[in-house]
Amino acid sequence: MGVPAARIVFDESDRATVADAVSEILATGALTLGPWTERFEQAFATEHGASHAVAVASGTAALEVVLRTIGVQGREVVVPAVTFYATAGAVLHAGGRPVLADVDPTTLALSPQSVEAVLTPATAAVVLVHIGGLITPAVDALRALCDARGIPLVEDAAHAHGSSYAGRPAGTFGLAGAFSFYPTKVVTSGEGGMIITESPELRDEARIYRDQGKGAFTANHHVREGASWRLSELNAAVGTVHLRRLKEFVETRRRVAARYDAALAGLDGLTAVTEPAGVRSNYYKYVALLPPGVDRAEFKRTLAAEHDVRLSGEVYDLPLHHQPVFAPYRGAPLPAAEDVCARQICLPVLSDMTEDETDRVIEAVTAVHRRLAG
Ligand SMILES: *Cc1c(COP(=O)(O)O)cnc(C)c1O
Repeated sequence: MGVPAARIVFDESDRATVADAVSEILATGALTLGPWTERFEQAFATEHGASHAVAVASGTAALEVVLRTIGVQGREVVVPAVTFYATAGAVLHAGGRPVLADVDPTTLALSPQSVEAVLTPATAAVVLVHIGGLITPAVDALRALCDARGIPLVEDAAHAHGSSYAGRPAGTFGLAGAFSFYPTKVVTSGEGGMIITESPELRDEARIYRDQGKGAFTANHHVREGASWRLSELNAAVGTVHLRRLKEFVETRRRVAARYDAALAGLDGLTAVTEPAGVRSNYYKYVALLPPGVDRAEFKRTLAAEHDVRLSGEVYDLPLHHQPVFAPYRGAPLPAAEDVCARQICLPVLSDMTEDETDRVIEAVTAVHRRLAG
């Protein structure tokens, strides 16, 4: 009995609820931009204490739409070097130039210093990413820095459904928050994304962009360079049902993380990325840094081969400035990003993880650490 890297949790009752919803959607023929999308938007906004939510086809679309409403065409957008391809990809799609910044190694997020180092008069926006679900306590200082320069702060909250800092939910610290419902994320709709914001203007613009830039749902005049970024009603129903489990999933994931924190504290040189005071992560990922010089591939291979414990993908194993596609945007070395990408591992955290599974991971990591890093 091994431990998988990930598990997508829809219990029998949720599967039945989705099946009923799909049957209703097919019977009515309201397949897109209908009542389930509205339900999903309202529930998601409420869950995150936001005034407005706009559902879109993916997390990448959510980011691109926000950046298009800001108008980053021909200007620079600061993104951390430690993030998924899509954060910087969305900047390119929106016509902007990604500027890759270093991160704080204790939170894996941008810091005021690393952002300040790359700001220029051409900076149009800063995108903060909550890696692994952890919101950096520097978020207030980052917001203040952006405000002082009149630059919008955008959150790529693709990892952070239900996370908070100082009681404040992810997605509410800047102009807008962009979430993803890709299958591996803490809440999924199959495919999908969500924008949350306090700005009614941004909400209205986002609704225009997601539906081919049409001025109105029933009209045929196109006022923006939008695209087909709508979420289907089928996906909205899946997401609405899954979102109801968010609190329970996060509780389970946090229990697992607390046990990992306690167990890993005793392992020399293995440094967990732990929550600073006031931070409440959803533990999309549990990140730990291997001691320098330990071969990550061998560590993972040994865990799988000898203990049947599979680690999930890193967040991330390569900083963006080392990704071939971003070679044109490579600048000075980004030492913290390079180091945390090279040394990190992600222990499995499942939304329905059992105590036995958690124990198994702890025993396996302890044994392999003793052998390869002790
Ligand atoms: C998953 C993810 C995205 C993109 O989401 P999609 O729904 O796959 O488009 C963007 N940013 C980060 C950090 C992600 O992890």
